[in-house]
Amino acid sequence: MQQKKQVVTVLGSTGSIGVNTLDVIARQSADYEVFALTANTQVDLLAAQCRQWRPQFAVMVSQVHGQRLQQQLREDGLSTQVLWGSAALDTVAADPQVTTVMAAIVGAAGLSSCIAAALAGKRLLLANKEALVVGGDFFMEAVRRGGATLLPIDSEHSAIFQSLPEDARTWPQVVDKIILTASGGPFRQRDPATLRLVRPQEACAHPNWSMGRKISVDSATMMNKALEVIEAKHLFAMAPEAIEVLIHPQSVIHSMVQFVDHSVVAQLGTPDMRGPIAYGLAWPRRHVSGASAIDFATLSALTFEPLSTPGHSERFAGLQLAWQVLRAPSGTSAVLNAANEVAVAAFLDEKIRFDQIHAVNLEALARYLPPKPSNLEDLLAIDQQARALAQAYADSLQP
Ligand code: NAD
Ligand code: MG
Repeated sequence: MQQKKQVVTVLGSTGSIGVNTLDVIARQSADYEVFALTANTQVDLLAAQCRQWRPQFAVMVSQVHGQRLQQQLREDGLSTQVLWGSAALDTVAADPQVTTVMAAIVGAAGLSSCIAAALAGKRLLLANKEALVVGGDFFMEAVRRGGATLLPIDSEHSAIFQSLPEDARTWPQVVDKIILTASGGPFRQRDPATLRLVRPQEACAHPNWSMGRKISVDSATMMNKALEVIEAKHLFAMAPEAIEVLIHPQSVIHSMVQFVDHSVVAQLGTPDMRGPIAYGLAWPRRHVSGASAIDFATLSALTFEPLSTPGHSERFAGLQLAWQVLRAPSGTSAVLNAANEVAVAAFLDEKIRFDQIHAVNLEALARYLPPKPSNLEDLLAIDQQARALAQAYADSLQP
């Protein structure tokens, strides 16, 4: 039987995940129609993607960029309609023609369009982990209310999803714990006392994965793993104590599930995001991804080290914040995420030091106890308030 084409909006199509998504789609292009592509500032790349994919819509965040894109597409004689403004992201995520939304915007900026896709009942491929960290229970409720199909794209969560039994209703009874693997990033063996000297380009040079700059810095501090613990709690309705982090420097095992009988199911692959992207696109089937196969014959060792390894609590001080905020009132993870976004941007701008990222996060958590959020506006207000606090504190620091 011939399958119907998926009609896809790629939110954040010019980023690392967005580009990889279009690469996977190109390998099986008969199954897909690209409906909309979106970007923040990269006009030339979005224009090139529009020439290749001929989407109905292209969205830029600002009017200036939108008009520049419109000019380029007009010169090329393309019929793609250009929109701008963040409300346009919600529009192309929720359009009735769309079946599938790849959420690949970085940061809380992607929250509103994720909620729009969830409420419209889309097949929602979630790379944008910050949206789930900020949205939390409210995000999951929108998925339920809208009847959306939420498919994780983060490699660890895709691995867990692939390792769990098909019937989600049996998870709590049969799962003992989830083991999220972590490469340890570029500073796994670095003397913690020298972390204050880290420059942005070193923090962005991940040993195994090629990614956007924000997630690269998060991987170096391991705040990325903290966000992933929170993400796993919501995606799989797991108790925070049932989520464990294990360092696995080769990034071959993408994560594991341990069952109550102590049998463990793991998912393996080369470190290439096209694997989880193809899985999310094709689920419940499979199709080609472009990722290379593991060569087991030359894979000399898979190694593991616990978080209790000497030095790791100083190197990765932010990781424990995940369990701390999961025990705190809802809304606290939105504070942590906002502070971290501000702190990472300040570090990338060389306004604060690498080791001060954690200080900014701690300060925001200590200074701001958010009110209980009950809707998207409340969440966005908490996000703004936490950003303002974190920014003021970051501005007061001496780099
Ligand atoms: P990136 O920086 O390469 O790309 C981000 C995309 O979002 C770009 O298209 C950019 O134009 C758009 N964008 C940025 N700010 C925006 C704003 N304010 N409003 C609207 N659009 C905006 O990031 P990435 O590495 O592709 O990561 C995207 C998301 O996927 C992040 O949440 C990240 O944590 C997650 N993720 C990435 C990887 C990876 O390997 N890159 C792996 C797992 C999860
Ligand atoms: Mg990940």
